[in-house]
Amino acid sequence: MTNPNSLTDDKWQAIISNDVSYDGQFFYAVKTTGIFCRPSCKSRVPNKENVHIFQYAEQAITEHFRPCKRCKPTGQHLPNDEWVALVTEFIDNYYTESLTLKTLADMSHGSPYHLHRTFKRIKGITPAEYIQHKRIENAKEQLASTDKAIADIGISVGLYNTPYFVTLFKKKTGHTPAKYRQVQNQSTLEVSPNGKQQP
Ligand SMILES: [Zn+2]
Repeated sequence: MTNPNSLTDDKWQAIISNDVSYDGQFFYAVKTTGIFCRPSCKSRVPNKENVHIFQYAEQAITEHFRPCKRCKPTGQHLPNDEWVALVTEFIDNYYTESLTLKTLADMSHGSPYHLHRTFKRIKGITPAEYIQHKRIENAKEQLASTDKAIADIGISVGLYNTPYFVTLFKKKTGHTPAKYRQVQNQSTLEVSPNGKQQP
């Protein structure tokens, strides 16, 4: 007897060929996205090493996977707020890598257009704006607390093009990264003498 939760060649073939005849026999979840699907789902083929097999949808839910919005493995729609929460979580984990609306839509199994609109309606900003926000906040922290070169900080937060990083940073904070660091360092210097006890 084979373990019903093991990823056999049959199941893997069913997943990559979106084989409808396997629907109901098993579900597959993808560790990196936190979503589970029916075998027939036309979502992007996941990396094999990230796939978990479940015999029943309830098992996937118990393991904290969320049902795919496209193939609806539980027969129900994923509510929009949960969909947006899922995408937000993904951005929080991967914003230092190159992320596009299409990547986010693919991984969360929706259309880019629908994702853009729904995300904006629920969070008040677009996915692209949210990604920028995460990147700039991280860059601010690094500028204030490290001596890393500005270009390296840009790269470390997913902004590989240094002039673009500088322009975006200035637009969001009012300062260039260099000026921001200078101001942060000055305010630290100004605080410390006051912190000392006067005789
Ligand atoms: Zn799916």
